[in-house]
Amino acid sequence: MNILIFGPNGSGKGTQGAIVQKKFGVPHIETGVIFRENIKKGTELGKKAKGYIDRGELVPDEITVPMILNRLKEEDCKKGWLLDGFPRNLAQAEALWNALVKENIKLEYVIEIILDRQTSKNRIMGRRLCAQDNNHPNNIFIDAIKPAQKDGKMICRVCGCETMTTRADDQDEAAIDKRHNIYYDTKTGTMAGVNYFKERVKVIDVDGLPGVKEVSEALLKKLG
Ligand code: AMP
Repeated sequence: MNILIFGPNGSGKGTQGAIVQKKFGVPHIETGVIFRENIKKGTELGKKAKGYIDRGELVPDEITVPMILNRLKEEDCKKGWLLDGFPRNLAQAEALWNALVKENIKLEYVIEIILDRQTSKNRIMGRRLCAQDNNHPNNIFIDAIKPAQKDGKMICRVCGCETMTTRADDQDEAAIDKRHNIYYDTKTGTMAGVNYFKERVKVIDVDGLPGVKEVSEALLKKLG
């Protein structure tokens, strides 16, 4: 099962992606996570990517496209994959589609989480990261996934981890606006990529405004 998931930063894409991953048992490949892991480890890739990420810009396609196309060739992707955060522009969408056609790989589902810009922005700024697992959903502005409290201190609502941080690019309004400019751009940005796929496969859209549970129920129903 090969799946793409789109949604503006802050739409709950990562959270819903984790739920979809569980349902289909395929690896959840998140471009942003791969970059952040490389930055943490101090790899060459991480060093190249850091400046772009801190500014809220896309890491250049020459770096990102081969990184993802190679990742999809790894052993664990033989049973399928859920790709999240890629493609992020029209050129990446074309590169992915051409690679899939060339390798005769079918794209079963394309998911689009729809959410307006201001709501997405508020959600990004409320995001809190658990040091144990960055994918544990915690957000101070969303009741369903508010971090827990212990001795007046914020802790992870999933595992109780006491170290909660924020991403630098999540607290920088200018960087958020840049990321959203890229996402909502229908000429060459991510929405151009979504529309590119709409012309080729059926795109399943889901309203990202309700709570996490409602969105995942609606999504899983549509996925059948
Ligand atoms: P995310 O975790 O998806 O919000 O991604 C964090 C940052 O990683 C983005 O703001 C970009 O700088 C970079 N990034 C993630 N995905 C891509 C992509 N497909 N192409 C280029 N840069 C990306």
